[in-house]
Amino acid sequence: MAGLVRNYVRALFELSLEAEELEGNVRQAEELAIDLTGEDRMFYLREPDVPLYEKREKLEAEFKDRLSVTMWSFLQQLLADGKTSYLPDILSGFIHISKRHLGHVEARVKSAKVLIQSERDRIQSILEEKSGKPVNVTYSVDEDLIAGFYVLMKGKIFDASARGKLNDLKRMIGGGDHLVSEAGELSTVIKEQIKSFTQMSEFEEVGTVVVVGDGIAKIYGLDNVMNGELIQFSNGEFGMALNLEEDVVGAVIFGSDQGIKEGDPVKLTGRMAEVPVGDRMSGRVVNALGQPIDGEKDIQADAYLPIERQAPSVIMRREVNESLETGIKSIDALVPIGKGQRELIIGDRQTGKTAIAVDAILNQKGKNVKCVYVAIGQKSSTVARIRARLKEEGALEYTTIVFSSASDSSPLQYITPYAGCSIAEYWMEKGEDVLIVYDDLSKHAVAYRTISLLLGRPPGREAYPGDVFFLHSRLLERAANMADAYGGGSITALPIVETQEGDISAYIPTNVISITDGQIFLEANLFNNGFRPAINPGLSVSRVGGSAQHPAMQRLAGPLRIEYAQFNELAAFSQFGSDLNPETQSQLNHGERIREVLKQPQYEPVDVSYQIMILYALTKGAMEDIDVHRVNYFQRALIHVAKRTDPQLSLDIRHSDRLTDELSERIDRLIQEVKVKYFSETAVEASEERPHA
Ligand code: ATP
Ligand code: MG
Repeated sequence: MAGLVRNYVRALFELSLEAEELEGNVRQAEELAIDLTGEDRMFYLREPDVPLYEKREKLEAEFKDRLSVTMWSFLQQLLADGKTSYLPDILSGFIHISKRHLGHVEARVKSAKVLIQSERDRIQSILEEKSGKPVNVTYSVDEDLIAGFYVLMKGKIFDASARGKLNDLKRMIGGGDHLVSEAGELSTVIKEQIKSFTQMSEFEEVGTVVVVGDGIAKIYGLDNVMNGELIQFSNGEFGMALNLEEDVVGAVIFGSDQGIKEGDPVKLTGRMAEVPVGDRMSGRVVNALGQPIDGEKDIQADAYLPIERQAPSVIMRREVNESLETGIKSIDALVPIGKGQRELIIGDRQTGKTAIAVDAILNQKGKNVKCVYVAIGQKSSTVARIRARLKEEGALEYTTIVFSSASDSSPLQYITPYAGCSIAEYWMEKGEDVLIVYDDLSKHAVAYRTISLLLGRPPGREAYPGDVFFLHSRLLERAANMADAYGGGSITALPIVETQEGDISAYIPTNVISITDGQIFLEANLFNNGFRPAINPGLSVSRVGGSAQHPAMQRLAGPLRIEYAQFNELAAFSQFGSDLNPETQSQLNHGERIREVLKQPQYEPVDVSYQIMILYALTKGAMEDIDVHRVNYFQRALIHVAKRTDPQLSLDIRHSDRLTDELSERIDRLIQEVKVKYFSETAVEASEERPHA
């Protein structure tokens, strides 16, 4: 149908041009269009039962004398073709392209109240003066403007409405508080604003909302928008342009889409979505836009960074050369993490994924590592609990929590990790070490899927859009260990992914596994059997951290993995056998103790130097004669005694590049003391009252 109308429109247009009757025909078409709007007068033309000659007679009587030759013969032809019912569409199409050809400009004026004729005339003459061409203005009323009016002309807006001014104020004071902090004083800001108000006679580029709903808008116009640019809607909310198509831009709305209607203007801000960064972010809980949500005072930012940034290039990086200690024995020993590494924590729900990340943060106390905990689509209560715990342990002061709750819009959830990463990057670029946790990327992918489906992108595997891989790779590539020439800082990333029934071959898990440097695989089975943290050493790897592991730890942990794997196999077999030979029995004994040592309660990170003492004791067989249930107690006792009788030992181990004979002897002495004090016949009674996990 549209094609048919278009053909007639073109024909009429070209005929008019040839006959040099365009201007006159446009006027006639306009009159005709008005005549035809009365339903009754159109009626006989559309009616198939009315014979052709009768239609022609009626038309002739009414129009023949009024119309130009081209118009009249066109009408005759249309009649002969039996297409007169398309006449209104053809006329309006013809008027539209002819006016464009004649250099007319279309403009739309929306005002809060109906404008009187003198006001309309004035607006018309200003617009014609501005564009230097005749302007066709259509007027409409929109009470949401509060007062005043705005004009849309050629994809530009001149906004003189009260709503527009309120939004500008919001943008300058609320949304862009950096203006306040940069200028220092509020008074200068207001002065600036008033100045810009008086200069605001210029038109700004603007788009028009075509469709809006579910936190998504499609916008017509905005020819110069950048991908990821911050845009502002008529209700004052910000959004981000995501889908740049030929005529239409798909955008997400960060806040509420309430009050945004079809036909509303959308302004460009010229800024990319950005977050405040700086040392004052530490100790705070902020949303995805960096605004504090912990009810404490405003944050004075040191700078603003865009949330989407280029990852450091190859030359700017160096290999992982320093370890990032988590304080969790099974990780530091078996899957050691290096600064700048990306290590995935993956497992079913409720298997202690968050617990590992939080313990790793707690363990950074006094180690000069800034931490960023990014919670995506989490429950507010969970995050409140984590914050309280961090505070209690004195870890909040070096930690920033970036949080979007499950009830936040998908767009907000979607940008949360990028915002967190920019906050971390600020420190990295200043040469500091940062640990960032993304909890979790499964929810992030789901938020992105929601947005993509709403934007009408074609769904792929598991309904995720095709670029979901890029979603996470461009985030995790921003983790890096920077070369000295670039400040030597680092971002270590611990992304978390939730699996369903341990299925690591699902789409998101496989993606993220392939873009990280290893994974810590948590198993529900182990967790439920009390083996916590529920790390499966067989399926967990760290591909780069080993080179940065403490050499003493490296030596001790090496055999551990094999012995433990052998034990697991043996244990499975020996379930069936009753009498085992002494050698097998001792292997089992040893394995059980390895298992005990790898268990660790939550919120009790252990310094690597003490981990080395414990593993030394384990390999030396010092725990073999201790009841399995007391292995944990033994470890605590060892740390306790070490701190009291040889406080220097921990530091000496740290700074030594291996376990020298001298150091080994000192640990031997400690073990001896622990055994005598807490594990001899007489000590058992005394130790009974001590709690052991
Ligand atoms: P979700 O899938 O809900 O995010 P999760 O995998 O992050 O869960 P956590 O919330 O960390 O799991 O832990 C689940 C529960 O197990 C919590 O109650 C936590 O206190 C407990 N837990 C975690 N690790 C340990 C541990 N090492 N020792 C004892 N309890 C633990
Ligand atoms: Mg969790």
